[in-house]
Amino acid sequence: MTIPTTSERVRLDLLHPKMLTRLEHFFADGRIAGKVAVVSGVRSYATQQSLFRRYKAGTLGNIAADPDRRFGPKGLDGKGIWRGSWHMQQNDGYGHAVDFRIVGKGITTQDVNKNCDLIRVAPNGGLRMVAPPMEVGVGGGVPRSGPGPRPE
Ligand SMILES: [Zn+2]
Repeated sequence: MTIPTTSERVRLDLLHPKMLTRLEHFFADGRIAGKVAVVSGVRSYATQQSLFRRYKAGTLGNIAADPDRRFGPKGLDGKGIWRGSWHMQQNDGYGHAVDFRIVGKGITTQDVNKNCDLIRVAPNGGLRMVAPPMEVGVGGGVPRSGPGPRPE
């Protein structure tokens, strides 16, 4: 099935396959279908850099991570293994987060959160809020952020 997006510029092509599968399950759920869409998917370094500059200039309206930050568990180079934002392509070649937007009636952010939790126990695993209220990733291999701004 197709994962709904708010614009054809939203990139899902480099999203981790496990996350794609989980998103398909999420959007197939009757409580979600037609009410929620992906507003932000995988971003290039350049896109993240642009968002970060707008954030620093106070013109973005929400938080954006520095594309050059490193966070999470330390790798062989002594720096965090995760780069910039989970939306950015990581060392494994994939992006690991998407942001949702409510596009239909009769659903709240809390409903979306709750349904992420419900779907998490399904056989395929589910989605986890990694940057509440509306950014999700997969559980397990994707750690929460450490100190500092969340990796939007
Ligand atoms: Zn995000």
